[in-house]
Amino acid sequence: MRKQLFINGEWRDAAGGQTIPVVNPATEDVIAEVASAEQADVDAAVAAARAAFDGPWGKLSARDRGQLIWKLGERLMERADEIARLETIHNGKPIFESRHIEVPAAAECFQYFAGWADKIHGETVPVKGNYLTYTLREPLGVVAAIVPWNFPLLLTAWKVAPALACGNTIIIKPASQTPLTALALAEIGHEVGIPAGVINVITGPGSKVGQMLVEHPGIDKIAFTGDTSTGKGIMKGAADTLKRITLELGGKSPNIVFADADLDAALRGATTGIFYGKGEVCAAGSRLLVDKAIKNEFIDKVAARARKMAPGDPLDPKTRLGAISSKKQLENDLRYIEIAKSEGATLVAGGSRADIGTGKGYFLQPTVFDGVTPAMTIAREEIFGPVLAAIEFGDVDEAIARANDSSYGLAAAVWTRDIKKAHYVARKLQAGTVWINTYNVYDTAAPFGGYKQSGFGREMSMHALEHYTQVKSVWVDLNQ
Ligand code: NAD
Repeated sequence: MRKQLFINGEWRDAAGGQTIPVVNPATEDVIAEVASAEQADVDAAVAAARAAFDGPWGKLSARDRGQLIWKLGERLMERADEIARLETIHNGKPIFESRHIEVPAAAECFQYFAGWADKIHGETVPVKGNYLTYTLREPLGVVAAIVPWNFPLLLTAWKVAPALACGNTIIIKPASQTPLTALALAEIGHEVGIPAGVINVITGPGSKVGQMLVEHPGIDKIAFTGDTSTGKGIMKGAADTLKRITLELGGKSPNIVFADADLDAALRGATTGIFYGKGEVCAAGSRLLVDKAIKNEFIDKVAARARKMAPGDPLDPKTRLGAISSKKQLENDLRYIEIAKSEGATLVAGGSRADIGTGKGYFLQPTVFDGVTPAMTIAREEIFGPVLAAIEFGDVDEAIARANDSSYGLAAAVWTRDIKKAHYVARKLQAGTVWINTYNVYDTAAPFGGYKQSGFGREMSMHALEHYTQVKSVWVDLNQ
């Protein structure tokens, strides 16, 4: 498979003719060669996006724009089997997750924001004096979406859908490891009649092509999801042109289990919280904080469940744990496992590379560490893999203090039957999302984003609209 850039409604090779390989992490086969863009390609994409913004896209009525975005979601579902397969072969996640969770969630995201397109408006303002003063809520212009490899399609949808609904045009820069579904999305946009230049896709290494987008004077906003250190670099890089930025960054999310919880439900939440998406989930419940009173018994059960969850062929519909996304990421996970052992944490499940019987692929056993203390590296740094760190606590205040003892603040969960305690803890947790007696539930209508070094800005929901529009005040003199 050879994949080109998508600029101004057309497929084209990169200006320098270079390509980068895309590897299926479950088989280690190269499944595609994807164009590696140059400055000239970035300039062409920016020019196309600007022309579409000033031209056909800007001239379309908000309602017609909404209808095109709706159709994009509809067509995505019509092609769901094929798109889900692409997502699985470049990322390694189980086809069950791609087909039944990620693709439908992406389609729903387009249809949710399609509904907003003709409901974004200004207001009249009761000013002093004889004036008519009103506001216009206007699009920003050209947006660049820089997307990571863990949810390549969904995290693209979270940016493209609100950007288009608000009237912007967009350039998508998928992660080098997982560019296939963003390219398919651009093709679908074209199929449903979204004008040329509204959705463009530029592929290539982030350190080069991503940086070009961040510094480009023709781009008005960067919507980024990825590593916290990359996000900090983007903030610095965008400063010279004062671009708007939203950053969705890493996490080390605490999953707090009190002794009075429904422990069977908490057990399911503890395991799916870390093993769903192979733990390559920014909101993964990677710190399991457990009440001392039940800790040993609870961790025994978590470890037993982990031992039963063997990874399998991601294309098998029964598989629930797929391949780690890349060799580099597998090495990263194994390195953290060694660090945990050397710092004195107790390995109670997994800990090694797994083989699904093919002798190929980057598979890892679901891993659980007990006896983790808050100072240990695996309690502080994001691993971004199926590795759980169990930490005990004595009482409610200690649970809250340990949960908040992190530079991150993306998500958190609390498991208890005590309704007062649940809401008390929810208010005290420094996190953009708090789940009570559940984990990893999302909806396009609910905002998602970070506190502290997990970033700023919110994706999904009406709050996302703020980040893709700007407000203009218009004053009319009514004095006679
Ligand atoms: P990454 O930061 O390396 O890459 C993300 C994207 O940025 C990719 O498209 C990459 O090509 C691009 N990029 C890399 N260097 C760049 C640069 N200098 N300038 C501009 N763009 C650049 O992150 P990753 O390894 O792909 O993803 C894993 C990380 O992302 C984890 O830390 C995870 O927690 C985080 N993440 C956060 C969320 C969230 O919603 N908060 C979601 C998914 C992933």
